[in-house]
Amino acid sequence: VRGERDRPRLHVFTSGSCNNNCLFCLDDRAARREIDPSDAENQLVANRHLKSVLFTCGEPTLHPDLVQLIGRSRELGYEDVRVVTNGRRLAYPDYTRRLVAAGLTGITVSLHGPDAETHDRVVRTPGAFAQTWQALEHLATLRAEGIALELTTSSVIQKHTLPRVGDLLARLAQVGPDVSVLNVVQPLGEALVHFEATVLPYREIVAGLRSALVDGERPREVAIEGLPWCLSPELRSHLGQREEIVVRHDGDERTLDRHRNQIHGPPCQTCAVADACGGVFEAYVERFGWGEFSPLVDRAVVDRGDTGCELP
Ligand code: SF4
Repeated sequence: VRGERDRPRLHVFTSGSCNNNCLFCLDDRAARREIDPSDAENQLVANRHLKSVLFTCGEPTLHPDLVQLIGRSRELGYEDVRVVTNGRRLAYPDYTRRLVAAGLTGITVSLHGPDAETHDRVVRTPGAFAQTWQALEHLATLRAEGIALELTTSSVIQKHTLPRVGDLLARLAQVGPDVSVLNVVQPLGEALVHFEATVLPYREIVAGLRSALVDGERPREVAIEGLPWCLSPELRSHLGQREEIVVRHDGDERTLDRHRNQIHGPPCQTCAVADACGGVFEAYVERFGWGEFSPLVDRAVVDRGDTGCELP
């Protein structure tokens, strides 16, 4: 996952519903109702030159033809075919094997706590943790059998998960993901609705992540997404960037850059990495201001590439 992609990735919004109900869901629930799952094939055909597709939003495993869509992607020449999922349907081993047999090359599974108490509370769905964990164990077994499937985990770091992030990383290490992504909560969608219950000042997040990453067992690669670069030099080797994506909106393809919904403020004006960092989420600075940010003078952190992690 390291390195800059030279092309954006197609994101196909595959389902208008979800079987979890995350407190911090990024989806625009009104826009999700507009998703036309039958349009997925058209999007695949129109964007085949991109070679890379992610089935996403709401929960793609609820699409009745996801297996066929994966197979169709491979027929059309897509080399990189991924699904991001809450993993619950993958608790059924036969279904997981069918996705892989159809040509899936990578999967991102979301887990937001080390146990049912934490995870089920934030996804607001009793029993979700048990199914997602079963899915991760199945995926680890498939990989141990030699099946080539990139495994990424994704965890949203917000008020309820931050105190458990050390235990979460230790738990994730048990299933050996290629990379575990810690997504600092973005104050958008449901997280904006539940701002007080989810969003934390970055200085508290940095302190929690620092101690979790210094001590204890963890996956071999941990990437942090959504943390402005000036906040913590010692975490910099973990910092990743979101990817450029192509989505269909009102019948047309739109390319969304890495820094969507972020803004630059006064400290960013003289910052050497402003183009790479992208600044801060607008709703965050509306609430907390610009006081905790300060410009970086060392452009070499970008040129060395140690913040070049590409995140699905
Ligand atoms: S000063 Fe602004 S652009 Fe520079 S690292 Fe901080 S938030 Fe990012």
